[in-house]
Amino acid sequence: MGTGVVMAGAIAPAQAQVFAGPERSRTQACQAPALAQVQRHTVARGETLEGIARQYNLLPATLMGFNPSLRGGRATPGSQILIPPFNGIRAEVPLGKTWREVAKTYKVRPDVLFEINGCQTAPKVVFVPGVNWSPIAPSTQAIPRVASQILTNSPLSQPTTVLLGYGYQVQPGTSQVAFHSGVDLAAASDAPVQAVGNGTIAFAGTQGIYGNLVVINHAEGLQTRYGQLGRIQVKVGQRVTAGQTLGLVGTSGRPSSAAPHLHFEVRSRSNLGWVAENPSQVLSSLQN
Ligand SMILES: [Zn+2]
Repeated sequence: MGTGVVMAGAIAPAQAQVFAGPERSRTQACQAPALAQVQRHTVARGETLEGIARQYNLLPATLMGFNPSLRGGRATPGSQILIPPFNGIRAEVPLGKTWREVAKTYKVRPDVLFEINGCQTAPKVVFVPGVNWSPIAPSTQAIPRVASQILTNSPLSQPTTVLLGYGYQVQPGTSQVAFHSGVDLAAASDAPVQAVGNGTIAFAGTQGIYGNLVVINHAEGLQTRYGQLGRIQVKVGQRVTAGQTLGLVGTSGRPSSAAPHLHFEVRSRSNLGWVAENPSQVLSSLQN
């Protein structure tokens, strides 16, 4: 499509985040706490933050979160840095609060947080999987409130059901738990997919597991993504209005189930990339 440069900038952090979750079976729940699996790495001459992150299959933001010395974006040769086992952040449990409240703040499933921290009942510090480190503290309320005023429409013209929800989910067909960065909405093949709000098309083309993907940038640093499409009917740079058809439902890319569905995401901009929000908390059409 000749949009490679646009694509890399707009999509790369998100795609990594899809795989941010540890792959493990539900049956071996309590392992060593994730924070006990942190390794050390001595920065060699010529190594970059991005290169080290790639070497361990992590996001640069994850390493920045664990290592204040990397937050300027540079790795100093000879220095020792900490490498967590998967993407996520280290979070202190505030005095008088419990890990359950930490799970709520970061919108992580409490059982997943519990298991990944070795089933400790009163930890002082926890590893929160799948969260992109950011210098900004998480805001639990502000984003959905703004978003619900900007993202007003349903992405589908017919009533739908959620086949697979947002967050850590057991993947259909396997026993693997993985982070699902959006919702899968049941729809017939070739059903029209609609913009949920006014905006500009930031990407329209093929992108890895998303298959045929349309990305819309909206006001207030909000973004929506429509994946697994059969056909795309918009172009990059085009302005769209709420309810406008973007393409048709399909099974392109690597959908999480064979049943035709729309993979739909809501993201908000942070200074370290587009962070996935729970679409069901944002769109009134997905609440029941
Ligand atoms: Zn999906």
